[in-house]
Amino acid sequence: MREADFRSDTKTRPNAAMRKAMAEAEVGDDVAGEDPSVNRLEAMAAERLGKEAAVYVTSGTQGNLVALLAHCQRGDEVILGDKSHIVKGEGGGPMVLGGIVITTLPVDNRGMLDPDQVDSAVHTDGTNYPRTRLVALENTHNASGGVPLTPEDMKSVADVAHGHGLPVHVDGARLFNASVALETPVAELVKDIDSVTFCLSKGLGAPVGSVLCGSNEFIDEARRWRRMLGSGMRQAGVIAAAGIVALDTMVDRLAEDHSNARRLSTGLAEIPGIAIDPDALPTNLVFFTMKYSNHDEIARRIIDQGVLLGARGGGYCRMATHADITGDDVEYALDVISSTITEYGKN
Ligand SMILES: *Cc1c(COP(=O)(O)O)cnc(C)c1O
Repeated sequence: MREADFRSDTKTRPNAAMRKAMAEAEVGDDVAGEDPSVNRLEAMAAERLGKEAAVYVTSGTQGNLVALLAHCQRGDEVILGDKSHIVKGEGGGPMVLGGIVITTLPVDNRGMLDPDQVDSAVHTDGTNYPRTRLVALENTHNASGGVPLTPEDMKSVADVAHGHGLPVHVDGARLFNASVALETPVAELVKDIDSVTFCLSKGLGAPVGSVLCGSNEFIDEARRWRRMLGSGMRQAGVIAAAGIVALDTMVDRLAEDHSNARRLSTGLAEIPGIAIDPDALPTNLVFFTMKYSNHDEIARRIIDQGVLLGARGGGYCRMATHADITGDDVEYALDVISSTITEYGKN
């Protein structure tokens, strides 16, 4: 049976060039800074993002955790959007492992914080409020459908934070999607940002890993926390090599994922009983709602025909386009969704 996996861009598998680079990778002991492949990946990432230094981490979750631990002491507060992945998708690590206080502010439908609300929420002195130490943004914003925040968005929050002497962290798991969608170099996107993580293992297609970037001093501190969290990975060049191929060859092609996502959303908008805003500027994430009483049955029947999608309850679904999804897969998915709804949809 034909199968197309739209559940997430994490489903991408390393391609032949990555596997070859992995097999041939030069390696050393990364805990001692001696792995040439890891060192090269970190240098490439820092240069690309316009930051002084970078550290290779096992996942986006670890990158964010290490960043928060490096920025904050126990009892310090980080201000975050209420729908952010750090709050909703990372097991509460900063609270559990760092004793860090998370304060959330509502985000708009793009996942953007209101700079004025950030300004009012900051407390940097006194003994009653937890001491604010950090503000964090997410770009692209996952829960808002992968909307890219612009350099101006990022600057508006950074100006407020910096005015209080606070750094800004960006969870940029899909930062390269934002950069490609906005046709803005990634360094331009984060020029006002102090620390930023991006995932190699999502749309960029590498099997493992994320990179955290920032100042030399910050990255030294982040390395200490990465070690404490047990991710001194020794000959990690074997996996970092795939990350190098990802940065070299997989960034520009994200435009293809975005055009596939646009085709998917315009196609979905034409199917009766599917609620979707086809004008929302999508990157590679498409969210929609099936307005049928038997939405769970419909989703199951679609999945049974090999179109794997993320059904999130109440008829709400997510589909992600990525390197292992072709334009043909999108047409196939639209055919399957449309015919399944025609045959089985109940109001
Ligand atoms: C996937 C994701 C992460 C975490 O990445 P993992 O590698 O899965 O730990 C962080 N932030 C956002 C917005 C994500 O989508």
